[in-house]
Amino acid sequence: MIDFEYLVKKYGTPLYVYDLDHMTRQFSKLKEAFRGRKSLLAYAIKANSNLSVVSHFAKLGSGADCVSIGEVKRALLAGIPKYKILFSGVGKRDDEIAEALKLDILYINVESEAELGRVEMIAKEMNKEARISIRVNPNVDPKTHPYISTGLHENKFGVDMETAKRMYISAKNSEHLDPVGIHFHIGSQLTELNPIREAAEIVADMVRSLAAIDIELKFFDVGGGLGIRYNDETTIEPYDYAQAVLGTMTGLDMTIVCEPGRFLTANAGYFLTKVLYEKKNGEKRFVVVDGAMNDLIRPSLYNAFHRVEVVGRKKGETSPADIVGPVCESGDFLAKDYPLPPLDHGDILILHSAGAYGFGMGSNYNTRGRSAEVIVENGKDRLVRKRESFEDIIALEREYLI
Ligand SMILES: *Cc1c(COP(=O)(O)O)cnc(C)c1O
Repeated sequence: MIDFEYLVKKYGTPLYVYDLDHMTRQFSKLKEAFRGRKSLLAYAIKANSNLSVVSHFAKLGSGADCVSIGEVKRALLAGIPKYKILFSGVGKRDDEIAEALKLDILYINVESEAELGRVEMIAKEMNKEARISIRVNPNVDPKTHPYISTGLHENKFGVDMETAKRMYISAKNSEHLDPVGIHFHIGSQLTELNPIREAAEIVADMVRSLAAIDIELKFFDVGGGLGIRYNDETTIEPYDYAQAVLGTMTGLDMTIVCEPGRFLTANAGYFLTKVLYEKKNGEKRFVVVDGAMNDLIRPSLYNAFHRVEVVGRKKGETSPADIVGPVCESGDFLAKDYPLPPLDHGDILILHSAGAYGFGMGSNYNTRGRSAEVIVENGKDRLVRKRESFEDIIALEREYLI
């Protein structure tokens, strides 16, 4: 049990707390599901990119899926070896591609014909052969929130199968490209197995048809997207997930690459905030807290649900309230119509499942310093990112003040 009251006294609010033991358990479960097969779990750094969190995964043997050169550097700094690092993303700059080639990471996930051309050109200039994988868009509906669906043609990600085939042939014929893998990632917070199976089948067929023309790929990269329970969702068991993927791969001797983000960190994280005021506008009840959308934007951005817990036993009947922050936006809320007991100034609220896409999506909007981050492991707590001060926020502007 984590002593949240103690952590709030020690570190203040708003505060992110990450339970590393939970992350370890999630990682082991997924790794175990692929036992007996060549597999690489490449943690999707964007879910929670705190250096100490990434370093924890490095120690567990994880690789890293990165979507910017900044994330690649974070992964390396945190101790993930270069041969376990992938670089994905729909819009890589030339300098990012060049740096990825210089750093000699495992492969670049290419997302368009135009990008393939740039990678080839840059590799040629550097006199290198770029290991690449192509992100295909299998046009499968992942049945998740439209903002986190990525595997339909209407989404900006990947290329259609026909284009992919053309790209593989052109890569195969290039001196400066080495096609080593195939990649898909159809969406996030997936709770249904069928779309995953369907996508994997389409991709496995592609691998076979490429093998028939002498293009042998080594990496079957199934992306991330495994959902977690925020409220009452039914989720996919890692074992069933692995079986669904493996079921499509008969006859294929490839390394399975998996890029979990949310699955590894979401339910390891807690966002702690303190009650400032209660207020009513007519009949509508509001609980104003010191955390806001700049700390945790998921409710505002996706209408996402986070379970809320009041620390300590509060007496009194619950009634629905919106939990809102101090930011000057009506969209600044952490929960809507949440049943809460009467609350007092200083009461602590815990928002659960805040370990993925929480802190990382934070900003300094309204000149608010970002929260501190704390890890807990084996009952011990430790600060892993200092709370931002006013000085931190203005540091890059001050000397340029007109
Ligand atoms: C975001 C992302 C992931 C991780 O998604 P989760 O839903 O957090 O597992 C994996 N791969 C790619 C390419 C991504 O963009």
